[in-house]
Amino acid sequence: MNDLHFHLPSLYDLSREQLAAQLMAWGEPAFRAKQIWRWLYQRNVGSIDEMTDLSKDLRGKLSAAYVLGRLTPVLQQESSDGWTRKWLFRLPDGSEIETVLMEYEGARRTACISSQAGCAMNCSFCATGQMGFLRNLTASEIFEQVLWANRQLRIENEKLKNENSNSQLSTLNAQLTNVVLMGMGEPFANYNHVITAVRRLTEAEDQGGIGLGARKVTVSTVGLVQGIRKFAEEGGQVNLAVSLHAGTDELRNKLVPINTRYPLSELTEATRDYIHITNRRVSFEWALIEGVNDTIDQAHALVNVVRQTYDPRRERRHMLHVNMIPLNPTNGYDGLASQRDRIAKFCAVLDAAGVPNSVRVRRGIDIAAGCGQLKAKVKA
Ligand code: SAH
Repeated sequence: MNDLHFHLPSLYDLSREQLAAQLMAWGEPAFRAKQIWRWLYQRNVGSIDEMTDLSKDLRGKLSAAYVLGRLTPVLQQESSDGWTRKWLFRLPDGSEIETVLMEYEGARRTACISSQAGCAMNCSFCATGQMGFLRNLTASEIFEQVLWANRQLRIENEKLKNENSNSQLSTLNAQLTNVVLMGMGEPFANYNHVITAVRRLTEAEDQGGIGLGARKVTVSTVGLVQGIRKFAEEGGQVNLAVSLHAGTDELRNKLVPINTRYPLSELTEATRDYIHITNRRVSFEWALIEGVNDTIDQAHALVNVVRQTYDPRRERRHMLHVNMIPLNPTNGYDGLASQRDRIAKFCAVLDAAGVPNSVRVRRGIDIAAGCGQLKAKVKA
């Protein structure tokens, strides 16, 4: 790919109608649009030349006018345990984003994708916040990360099948099962593009989408209140996670500065309304930082926030879940992950109050692919 091509539009930016109009203008029959759409979204090809049932002439026209996608991989890293990998992509304007693929025992495979290059929210403990904001991603730049991860899985799967044609592996269908918008950026600060991307991910394959179940997709927000309110009206089954990290405004102002704009009282009210409107369970995210937000006082403050949002003593208790993760290290923040005994004491307070909670296992720390560690590397 040369630089010239970076300035061409991407096929993934086209709606189905736009693609059909383009093909009609070239004098192609109507069914071509469906054919190409299938290559783009269901077959998930790596190049226009792989669209083998199109004439060479049409492939040439497509390649002269469009690029297939906008993500150029510049680096792939794999964690030492082999379960997590991370890609650094360069975008046409030179900005860079990261995407993480996590595989689990069993069939679960989760892609953690970015919604912005950089982030303007400035959370002190997050590497993306520390690098600042570059720009919003387009909808296609968001869902292409999913297509990319799916394509890598499919290629590997085919390789395995060829190598072990008689083994059970040949029956495996290695595709992504889950997508979380927990990579770089604040999804609700790029609301419309994120919603468009999520629609395309969750639309059924026969509707032209990628066919991921909406319940398998999670959007994580720093707590932009208008975003939570709009999201409640979208009417889908997509999951919502809210990054809480502190149970008092005093502490949250420091860790998550946007709290000065949307304090806990407004955040809990919007989250409560969201749960009532959607009847969907929400999770509160909490990065456990030794001596900062893992104290017994903060645990009680968290119980308070939970009760203000959705009181487990009076309502169905499974509607709000606290998801903790020991802090991942980042260069710009010197806090440490909580030790096991402190986590146990913190959880005991939540348990005693009947607040459903779990502690997540950290992943991909050795390649800086963990939560809050994504930061496009500075160009050499
Ligand atoms: N902007 C969105 C999504 C990106 S971050 C949000 O704030 O939710 C995804 C999750 O990782 C958030 O809960 C975020 O607070 C958390 N996180 C950020 N830095 C972290 C770190 N150093 N260790 C652990 N979790 C972190």
